Amino acid sequence: MSDIIRNIKGTKDILPDEAIIWQYVESKIHIFFKQYGYSEIRTPAFENTSLFKRSIGADTDIVSKEMYSWTDQGGNNITLKPEVTASVIRTYIQNSLGKINPINKFYYIDSLFRRERPQKGRYRQFHQFGVESIGSQYPEQDAEVIALAYNFYHYLGLKNIILKINSIGSKETRGIYKKKLHDYLLPYKKDLTEISQKRLDKNPLRILDTKVNFEIDIINNAPNIVDCLNDDDKIHFDNVLNFLNKMNIKYSIDNKLVRGLDYYSRTVFEIQCEQLGAQDALCGGGRYDNLIENLGGKSTPAIGFAAGIERLILALDIKKYIIENSPDVYIVSVGENAIQFSIKIANMLRVNKNFIVITDTLRRGLKSQMKEANKLNSKYAIIIGDNEIKNNKATIKNMSDGNQETVIFDNIESYFNTIK
Ligand code: AMP
Repeated sequence: MSDIIRNIKGTKDILPDEAIIWQYVESKIHIFFKQYGYSEIRTPAFENTSLFKRSIGADTDIVSKEMYSWTDQGGNNITLKPEVTASVIRTYIQNSLGKINPINKFYYIDSLFRRERPQKGRYRQFHQFGVESIGSQYPEQDAEVIALAYNFYHYLGLKNIILKINSIGSKETRGIYKKKLHDYLLPYKKDLTEISQKRLDKNPLRILDTKVNFEIDIINNAPNIVDCLNDDDKIHFDNVLNFLNKMNIKYSIDNKLVRGLDYYSRTVFEIQCEQLGAQDALCGGGRYDNLIENLGGKSTPAIGFAAGIERLILALDIKKYIIENSPDVYIVSVGENAIQFSIKIANMLRVNKNFIVITDTLRRGLKSQMKEANKLNSKYAIIIGDNEIKNNKATIKNMSDGNQETVIFDNIESYFNTIK
């Protein structure tokens, strides 16, 4: 036998038993996010590479080493989407959505691509859901977006979640802070990793994202960005915290939280789940008041978050979420004539009654078809064999109590009217 072709490293098949859980999670996203007035938006799987370079930032891990980019046959530079915000903002600008509504609130469920080192909870193709609220500069908008993420995890019954929040201030604040951080880190330059050394001059804030232990030790004593916030930034942050308190949302302030993308300003936050181990980040987000202007639109404030679906599913108690998907009817047909009736009855019950109906297409014997009906946990079995055809009647068996009746073919639909 020739070698089989396997999936690409870092990708994952979602087989039917797991797909049920995905459907459950996705259906809850649609219900819950609409409660907050957010509408679904869908954007293409790939975009011009320049969109991500300009928005996420050239010094970030995503842009500098993780994007799946190529030049297509027409010479266009294209990238598989590594995150969603840039695409949503592109379509917002392109379609002048800000002129139609002063505030636009979107949610999405999407598939993303980053060439990271695969491990549990970290893939090269993964899925996120998230929101973008575009138009409001006010702290109540930050609080709404944070509450939406936090409450969603509670709504799904997730325990042990931790909300971390920080403010990285305005562009001016970050300019001042960058200088302070650079001056603090400079004496340690030779101790830093090669990539951090490169970032030191260009964008020292990125070093705060490090996962390397000895760098974390250095960073522990670094100056805090909160000490550079101007009065407006401080008032904004205090108001956000105040609103969270009003909603009884528990948070901890983490002054080292800056998030891995360049476009954030003021509020940034992350939600973690203790039981997830090393990859414990469920969700991250923040305000990005300068992004729309950077991408060529009219200056407009905005805030959003993105959350991983794979990690959410890992954190949920999966068995609880298996949804009853058993058939209403399994049609057991034995012999070629029976197949004719089986096809007709199955179609009638599916079209007229919206039943889940399974028929045997392997032409197996009566015993193995009954076994299958049992295995699938079917509510009823309709049995059609030579005898039934001779009498123009089917045998209908209630699989839970074992009772069976014979019903003439033409009355099968009305039979189910009385019992379901
Ligand atoms: P980010 O867009 O990097 O802020 O990530 C937001 C969330 O997406 C994270 O908190 C994770 O839950 C999830 N996530 C990010 N990258 C991956 C990945 N490579 N594999 C699985 N989930 C991911």
